[in-house]
Amino acid sequence: MDCSFYNFQIQVIYPCEKNSLDFFSQADELPVYIVVTLMFFSLEKEIGPEQFPVNEHYFGLVNFGNTCYCNSVLQALYFCRPFRDKVLAYKSQPRKKENLLTCLADLFHSIATQKKKVGVIPPKKFITRLRKENELFDNYMQQDAHEFLNYLLNTIADILQEERKQEKQNGRLPNGNIDNENNSPPDPTWVHEIFQGTLTNETRCLTCETISSKDEDFLDLSVDVEQNTSITHCLRGFSNTETLCSEYKYYCEECRSKQEAHKRMKVKKLPMILALHLKRFKYMDQLHRYTKLSYRVVFPLELRLFNTSGDATNPDRMYDLVAVVVHCGSGPNRGHYIAIVKSHDFWLLFDDDIVEVKEENNLLVLTSKTSHCLLGPWLVKLE
Ligand SMILES: [Zn+2]
Repeated sequence: MDCSFYNFQIQVIYPCEKNSLDFFSQADELPVYIVVTLMFFSLEKEIGPEQFPVNEHYFGLVNFGNTCYCNSVLQALYFCRPFRDKVLAYKSQPRKKENLLTCLADLFHSIATQKKKVGVIPPKKFITRLRKENELFDNYMQQDAHEFLNYLLNTIADILQEERKQEKQNGRLPNGNIDNENNSPPDPTWVHEIFQGTLTNETRCLTCETISSKDEDFLDLSVDVEQNTSITHCLRGFSNTETLCSEYKYYCEECRSKQEAHKRMKVKKLPMILALHLKRFKYMDQLHRYTKLSYRVVFPLELRLFNTSGDATNPDRMYDLVAVVVHCGSGPNRGHYIAIVKSHDFWLLFDDDIVEVKEENNLLVLTSKTSHCLLGPWLVKLE
């Protein structure tokens, strides 16, 4: 494959705001093939043949017109090993009719089976399918990476559940009473096994002290951000006790009337992989539009959740940071997304078709201190 060709194409046709890399601002004047050769050569050389992880591939993804939101999420997911393994296992199953998951499996398989260790791949089939399936993504506008992550995970789960239902109906799986099974909620899929956690919403009536709790499942947690804070602070805010009063009073079953109450959300079941979304795009009533909160939010490389409920099954679970999707730029409908992932002992920066090795110290500066480079969804892997 002629990688330099793809590089050349995206630079000319679809220039995103690549303010994360000074490299290309100078590179425009150079012959393209020299730029590309240098880049691949340096990545492989920088890591070194001895250190380069066996069976690992670092491939950039071609941008098909503001598709950096998609590319960065795909890279983050590719380096979530439990997710990658399941997608590759799906690829090895008997051929199915094309859907978003078969396209994703083809893409992951194509990266995983490349002869070269580094290079560029065009995720054309996946993008075409995505645009065909969801009109939200069927354009050349910048999209929200978090929205895409959510859509992708839910779509994969739906596809798997639908396939399981079909298999049961075809009698390929041992099945009991079909009527019964149709009424029960569908079994969790591997998407749920990897990403799903449970929140418990506790409400305490301030009159009779009765606590009622309601559980709800999540695939990612969205937390509010504030200036000069940390992930821990954001999570604390998420679980802060809220008082329900005046027009927001709570209907207490015990008192049989509306009462003042305390409400708080806690994590009851911690997911295997925690996806954290920092809500940096906020709707401003005065402006009638979304603006970006360019706040500095510090994040640790290891994270323990403390906002767990008393009956949580695994409250001490430690999470290691494996991927960060970063939005660079000033507003929700512009700017550029990149992904920073940890693979073996390396931190890699994926900026569409460009892949670079980064020092851990430089990354922290890039993602938490630079005012225009900020976090989007956050994927953390359990060690
Ligand atoms: Zn009450």
